[in-house]
Amino acid sequence: MQQDPAPRFRVDVAGLPRYVPGRAAPTELVEKLSSNENPHPPLPSVVDALGRELGRVNRYPDPRSGELVAELATALSVPDDHVVPGTGSLGLARDLLAAAAGAGDEVVLAWRSFEAYPVLVWAAGATPVPVPLRGERHDLAAMAAAVTDRTRVVVVSNPNNPTGTAVRRAELERFLGRVPEDVLVVLDEAYREFVDDAGVPDGVELYRRRPNVVVLRTFSKAYGLARLRVGYAVAHPAVAAVLRACTMPFAVNGMAQAAAVASLRARSELLERVGSVVAERGRVTDALRSAGYTVPESRANFVWLRLGSGSRPFADACEAAGVMVRPFGEEGVRVTIGTPHENDHLVKIARDLAVRERV
Ligand SMILES: *Cc1c(COP(=O)(O)O)cnc(C)c1O
Repeated sequence: MQQDPAPRFRVDVAGLPRYVPGRAAPTELVEKLSSNENPHPPLPSVVDALGRELGRVNRYPDPRSGELVAELATALSVPDDHVVPGTGSLGLARDLLAAAAGAGDEVVLAWRSFEAYPVLVWAAGATPVPVPLRGERHDLAAMAAAVTDRTRVVVVSNPNNPTGTAVRRAELERFLGRVPEDVLVVLDEAYREFVDDAGVPDGVELYRRRPNVVVLRTFSKAYGLARLRVGYAVAHPAVAAVLRACTMPFAVNGMAQAAAVASLRARSELLERVGSVVAERGRVTDALRSAGYTVPESRANFVWLRLGSGSRPFADACEAAGVMVRPFGEEGVRVTIGTPHENDHLVKIARDLAVRERV
């Protein structure tokens, strides 16, 4: 029988791993603590900015996101040409990987880390080189040792998704000193605003002296704009220019630009909310630990429970009780910090399970 001719793709595309998103919440009653979202709805000033945009969706947005770039550059004390907004930090990560790495090139990353990374590396045609975490933390010495002359990019998620751990200044500086200057280091700081440890370095300080470091940040988590898909990169002009050249034109839509600008203008209010999430993170961590769970110190808006083969049963039990969490294979479960009410609910479920299972 003759096969219908099908379009031909790159030979490696058929085998690409798929990004597995957190499942959609099955009903409105379910509390969703599975995608590291911000539990707070947008501020009225952000809703107003979005409302003003609605009436002009027939027009293309500013392709350079000029207002957003200016606002970010001022907030971060960096030159305008060091800032590149994108379709979420994921869009920027994808463009960076595609620009820096292709067939035969390697990208060193920690594992387990953000599961989108290997997907993006494969999609670029390059090969991920996963370096196992050590005790839930990046093993930066092993990552530096994994760099070869085929390495084009190293990705460091700080804090790390899904374990929540953060690497500290001295170890990160030592690591950056070991990575060759022609290898791009992507420092993914999606959770930077939740870091309350002064020993964890600010990537925007580190990149200033290191032209091979690019910092990725996002409005999806602390700023609560996950649905709008907007993030930004901070890098020296040589890297920023490549990113601008490779990014899809009009990547950041007008609603996203307007909401991001309004959010930066309401920053102190939004950072207060971040403060309450951080306080809740401490409370949840303590409660889970006293229930017998081992919880690494998180610097993000989620906590990690290494439950091994108990991960799926734990997640199923949470879901049966109306709370969605995120299991990762037979490794562990990531639980997003939600509202105090949601967190109480999660802690109660976890306590009940601990009594039954004696974790
Ligand atoms: C959530 C997350 C992102 C995604 O950010 P977007 O800006 O929504 O694309 C990037 N990196 C890590 C580590 C994340 O956990």
